[in-house]
Amino acid sequence: MVLGLVLVAATADAELRVLACEPVWAAVAKEIGGERVHVESATTPQQDPHYIQARPSLLAKTRRADLLVCSGAGLEVGWLPVLLRQAGNAGVQPGQPGFLEVAKVVPMLEVPTRIDRSLGDIHPDGNPHTETDPRNIARVAAEIATRLAAIDPAGADVYRKRAADFDGRWRRAIAVWEEHAAPLRGVEIVTHHVSWAYLVQWLGLVDVAHLEPKPGIPPSAGSLATLLEELKQRRPKAIVRLAYEPERASVWLSGRIGAPALVLPHAPGSTERAKDLFGVFDEIVRLLLEANL
Ligand SMILES: [Zn+2]
Repeated sequence: MVLGLVLVAATADAELRVLACEPVWAAVAKEIGGERVHVESATTPQQDPHYIQARPSLLAKTRRADLLVCSGAGLEVGWLPVLLRQAGNAGVQPGQPGFLEVAKVVPMLEVPTRIDRSLGDIHPDGNPHTETDPRNIARVAAEIATRLAAIDPAGADVYRKRAADFDGRWRRAIAVWEEHAAPLRGVEIVTHHVSWAYLVQWLGLVDVAHLEPKPGIPPSAGSLATLLEELKQRRPKAIVRLAYEPERASVWLSGRIGAPALVLPHAPGSTERAKDLFGVFDEIVRLLLEANL
């Protein structure tokens, strides 16, 4: 009995702990780490990572983590620096192999030349919502494999094999999504926040407007009236938001311009049908094609 407990404890200790700031990176880490890693996400798909609190439970997870994977570029500025400061975990500080900032390993969009937070600029280092382009997910997967191998050399072969397998399946899936999404090129959409800039660039969509007058500033009756006026010359096919964004403005605009208000998944579990990483992009492409009929 005692022996059993000791064995369980030893196994749990040997497991590498990955803490992802956002659920999409947790899903990628699971693909690469498999059984060798214990993966948790600091946020759920229903939480806005711009605005969560540095709760004690997150501090405990940060203290135990061997690898942090976070979008970065200021997305977690309200809570991650507090966790890093208070956790006393040298291995996951910026600059260490145990701290992976996605913004450093993918090409960033919308990097401002001038920052003015008074204008509601909550993206001081560029648009941090990089997960909506599957090619970025491939880049992060490769980097996670490198980091895990550095932190856990005994598992390097496992991580390399799993990464190669994932990369093959992922690239074949990207080719299929691109083929299916070809009719979406040039299609106009409206988005709630600027969360879809990377998807827009990948598929050649056109985001003609955002419901937020500035990133992070909620739409008002006045800003929506102005937006409706601006959209008179346009024919957007869909109004797109994330699972955690309020539906009110989308539904209001949908009623006036006749385009459907869609929740597109951005991580496994953010919509019912997006059960894994592959399902996320299956769903994005399916819903946009349906709206474009
Ligand atoms: Zn944002």
